Amino acid sequence: MDLKKLLPAILLLLLWFPGYSQRLAIMGAMDQEISILVEAMHKPKLSTIGGIDFYTGKLKGKKVVVLKAGIGKVNAAYSTAVLTQNFTLEGLIFTGVAGGLHPEALPGDIVIGTSLVQVDFGMLNSDGFTPWNFRNLSGEPHPELLLSADSSLIQLSLQASKLAEYEAISTRAPRIFQGVISTSDLFVSDPVKAKWLYSEFNSLATEMEGAAVAHICRFLEIPFVVIRSCSDNANTDAHVDFNAFVGPAAANSANLVLRMVELMQQ
Ligand code: SAH
Repeated sequence: MDLKKLLPAILLLLLWFPGYSQRLAIMGAMDQEISILVEAMHKPKLSTIGGIDFYTGKLKGKKVVVLKAGIGKVNAAYSTAVLTQNFTLEGLIFTGVAGGLHPEALPGDIVIGTSLVQVDFGMLNSDGFTPWNFRNLSGEPHPELLLSADSSLIQLSLQASKLAEYEAISTRAPRIFQGVISTSDLFVSDPVKAKWLYSEFNSLATEMEGAAVAHICRFLEIPFVVIRSCSDNANTDAHVDFNAFVGPAAANSANLVLRMVELMQQ
């Protein structure tokens, strides 16, 4: 067989294949955060790898992989590693709930994470806590404390946030915030700590997975964004509010993501 004649076809196949196999990953930490998206998929295929359930198929006509990462930074990092080793990704959207820190944030409000910060990684001594920039695998510290999300995905989130339909939780329609989201392996239920996160890091919402996912996406050069809706205000009532509002807040964030996927297809 004359290989030279086959060369254009082989080249075409090589050019076409990476694009064809690319998917958008959509990740949440809990069932409530991904169920709306899995239900909206057209005949999702379930495959379990490394103990994680991956739902592949089309969402609003777009090729996606949807998964539940589990709660906390270790589960989130593990899930992101298994995800990225088994799928070719064009980007990653994290959707879920968080404790709102902005003084005007109410349950149901949306926070678009323009950057993520780990607030339990650093040095603790008698003077208090000093955060450290995250480290590459080689040990090198990253030049900045904050991990920036992808600017195109941020823009798309903002556009989608104006179109999405939200469940009414508070006395007013959900407000859209954009800014820093903080991550730690702690469910924050303390007004003093909540105030500190807001004043020290400018953080508008706090959660338990985002910066871990962002860290790995940065390392592997995968564009990402984190979308959160407030289930509580990280104050003394946080666990009560969380139980009351986790459902509608998770739905608000998932509905925004559905709009994003629609916009991607236009
Ligand atoms: N009672 C629940 C608690 C889950 S932890 C359970 O045992 O299943 C809270 C989850 O929601 C995490 O995935 C975290 O990312 C997010 N979250 C919501 N409010 C939070 C808060 N005040 N502090 C930290 N994470 C919060």
